[in-house]
Amino acid sequence: MIRIPVCLGAGIFSLNHYLHEVKNPDVIIIGGGLAGLTAALDLTNSGKQVLVFEKNSYPNHKVCGEYVSNEVLPYLESLGTNVQQFQLPKIDSLRISTQKGKTMEVKLPLGGFGISRYTFDNFLYNAACQKGVDFIFDSVQKVQFLDDTFCVTTSAKEKYFGKVVLAAFGKRSNLDIKMQREFIQAKSPWLGLKCHYEYESLPSNVVELHNFPGGYGGLSQVEGGIVNFCCLVRYESFKQEGSIDAFLEKTASQNPFLQEFFSKATPKFKAPLSIAQISFEPKKTIDQHMLMCGDAAGLIHPLCGNGMAMAIHSAKLASEQVDMFLENPNFTRKDLEGNYQLLWEKNFRRRLWTGRQLQKLMMHTKWFNLGMGLTANSRTLLQGLIRSTHGKPILN
Ligand SMILES: Cc1cc2nc3c(=O)[nH]c(=O)nc-3n(C[C@H](O)[C@H](O)[C@H](O)COP(=O)(O)OP(=O)(O)OC[C@H]3O[C@@H](n4cnc5c(N)ncnc54)[C@H](O)[C@@H]3O)c2cc1C
Repeated sequence: MIRIPVCLGAGIFSLNHYLHEVKNPDVIIIGGGLAGLTAALDLTNSGKQVLVFEKNSYPNHKVCGEYVSNEVLPYLESLGTNVQQFQLPKIDSLRISTQKGKTMEVKLPLGGFGISRYTFDNFLYNAACQKGVDFIFDSVQKVQFLDDTFCVTTSAKEKYFGKVVLAAFGKRSNLDIKMQREFIQAKSPWLGLKCHYEYESLPSNVVELHNFPGGYGGLSQVEGGIVNFCCLVRYESFKQEGSIDAFLEKTASQNPFLQEFFSKATPKFKAPLSIAQISFEPKKTIDQHMLMCGDAAGLIHPLCGNGMAMAIHSAKLASEQVDMFLENPNFTRKDLEGNYQLLWEKNFRRRLWTGRQLQKLMMHTKWFNLGMGLTANSRTLLQGLIRSTHGKPILN
């Protein structure tokens, strides 16, 4: 499906002029999630003509815990986007519980806020439209790099050309398969579920993580006092029950807090959303000369609650390097790729490594239960884990 022009940049052009501009932008961004949208805003602010390809329309729900670390607030404000206008729940505490109901609550050093992806992505999309970012709602099928130029082909068989491509197409895309990326060759055992509920007993300042056999479920408020339940579970554990309802009732509800929640909460969706094959394997930061941003460069374990902040931060790092590449003739493509790679590793490698250790622990139910038990007994351990998976405020 192709829908252009969805939003035109400033001014009125002839159709030919418009198509020329759109087909030859300064920067092409594949994927209009958080990484793609913030990079589009950032690059447009520095005067670049940006074209974003997004396969889905806005607004839409995505499987996500919807807890955003405050790390991103200064940067979002510098882009001219103020999410605070939505009167979002401010979250300053984390409560975890074991399957047996043992709990521990700690203060989150930086804290965060709750916002649904339905609202967040749509808000950034509208801001990008207002700034003059062009959008094409179609799935990118192929990207080629020839003679120092990218050629992007959509499913409508249209071709677009650009000097730079930011690949912000998320954790698992058709392009990962086309590009034969290494992580996609292996099966991943993880499945994610998410649903919004009406439920009055969850304090607005707390994000809760509750352990159950084969996984854990997170509860936190988003705008309008709605509670988001999002869980990550091993496929093996999920499939034993045969359906989502049975899984929530029999497996997730083995945790006493989730049992209480499901017995009282009213779902807002007809059925929970689900995604399978969630992979935490390392990925290339530069692939076929594209700068990979957000989850396309690596997904941190959701237990760390930091993927969105990292996606937004990576967009900032990429935008700065792209700006230098386009403005400064002495700044070569090699500089662009080398610098971005270095910055990415400096900022995210350690966090992703910690996330992968958590994921490995989760693979072994016995060890994970033991780990959760230890964490629920040790405030210092839990605070250390939070520190090692979170960054500092992203400043301009
Ligand atoms: C179960 C779970 C819970 C999570 N909970 C949290 C949390 O509480 N807090 C947190 O900070 N992070 C959380 N995360 C991580 C967070 O959701 C991601 O890190 C974040 O969404 C990354 O943003 P992104 O822009 O990289 O990708 P996305 O938001 O996934 O955007 C990618 C976009 O690319 C588009 N796309 C894909 N392929 C193509 C194509 N070929 N052509 C055109 N468009 C394409 C997609 O439609 C999509 O809109 C969670 C993740 C999971 C799996």
